[in-house]
Amino acid sequence: MTSAFFSDLPLPCAIVGMGVTGTAVKKLLEAAGVSNKSILTFDHNSVEAQFHSSAELLTQGQPKSLIVSPGVPLQSSWIMEAKKTGIFITSELSLASRLLTTESLIAITGSVGKSTTTCLLNAVLEQFCSSFFVGGNLGTPLAIYAMEVLQKKRPRAERVVLELSSYQLENFPELNADHSILTYLTANHLERYNSKHDYFETKWVIEKQTQKSLILNSNGGELQSWLQKREPRLPWIWTNRQDPLMAQHSLTQCELLGSHNLDNIAMAAQLIDQAGWPEAAFEGLKKFPGLPHRVENLGVHGGVRYINDSKATTMESVKIAVQSVLESLNHHQKTLHLLLGGRDKNLPWEELSTMRMNPYIQTYFFGECREKAKYLSQLGGSMSVTMLEALKLAQKKAQWGDAILLSPGGTSLDEFKNFEHRGEIFRSFALNQ
Ligand code: ADP
Repeated sequence: MTSAFFSDLPLPCAIVGMGVTGTAVKKLLEAAGVSNKSILTFDHNSVEAQFHSSAELLTQGQPKSLIVSPGVPLQSSWIMEAKKTGIFITSELSLASRLLTTESLIAITGSVGKSTTTCLLNAVLEQFCSSFFVGGNLGTPLAIYAMEVLQKKRPRAERVVLELSSYQLENFPELNADHSILTYLTANHLERYNSKHDYFETKWVIEKQTQKSLILNSNGGELQSWLQKREPRLPWIWTNRQDPLMAQHSLTQCELLGSHNLDNIAMAAQLIDQAGWPEAAFEGLKKFPGLPHRVENLGVHGGVRYINDSKATTMESVKIAVQSVLESLNHHQKTLHLLLGGRDKNLPWEELSTMRMNPYIQTYFFGECREKAKYLSQLGGSMSVTMLEALKLAQKKAQWGDAILLSPGGTSLDEFKNFEHRGEIFRSFALNQ
């Protein structure tokens, strides 16, 4: 028998997009007793899906509702047509949120900084909360949480933190958050929105669906200028790295590198304050080392700090990582040992040439593109065949207080399965020093 949560869902329903969220919502519906025959699946690419074209889905499957995954544009002509014919359009989040009852909900969105801020709150909750769930766009879909609660596999969480992309906000009218954070606004995803304004408006839905407070980053790109003429519907709390809470709780003494991350910490600190969480919560902000493989601070080993930024495969990311690490080193006049290389994808290595002027940067090239990267960047430094050889050289040269940063620029595929694999090799070397 279908659980009361979904008794009004018009059946058969079709899950549109069988990626992580589509697969999760299927599990939730099945756990709630929706008969397998009433759940259709559609995906252009997945062999698991029953239908591979929208025309077939509509004519042969005759769904009465579409559960549209965030990767599929709601503005697709066939979805708009289906809506006009009375087919109910919904989403994984809309359905999963029906199972929320007493959970205090925190929502996070923004053009950048979402994942970092969400993970900061995860570290915070680990400090004091015995039952919480952090997920959504990052990590585990809400449908999995809802399913586990339904099946009594886990206790109901006291607090739920959801990272939400603009695609998810487009199709989640049931969102009802206690507190929300909007990290940053800058033009993004313009392939799916008519204009920057439309994209910003989609993010702004979060304000309309929050009850108690909205935390905003005053260093958040175009956020402040875009909101200039708007009236708050609920308390707006503007914050940034200069927030008095930072000094009050010594939050600049944190593991997370990069001054932009101090803005993320300030937003998380305001959230702790607004939500009335205990003092212990602030400790989580200091301990958080960064997301794995993204300027991840692995700590000091043998007197040298190791930083894993294996995910960096653009010059922009390399520059941000170098800047972030230099900020933490240079008032002590220590050297940054930078590992560059991997497989090239016609990267503009010449953009790194300005680093030549900095006496505190020492470069080590490795991998398939080592010669090209060295030639185009005009940076001095050794050349090694493998990342590990370059790392060993850097470790030999590094003095007490220096830092070794893997922010390679090139992809990992010349030598490793993926960027995670490359980062793990770097990590295990660091932890063994
Ligand atoms: P998202 O999940 O929104 O993509 P992340 O937290 O993963 O964001 O950060 C992605 C990149 O954005 C980071 O590597 C960093 O370069 C940049 N970034 C993160 N937070 C900020 C911020 N507050 N201000 C400016 N840039 C930021």
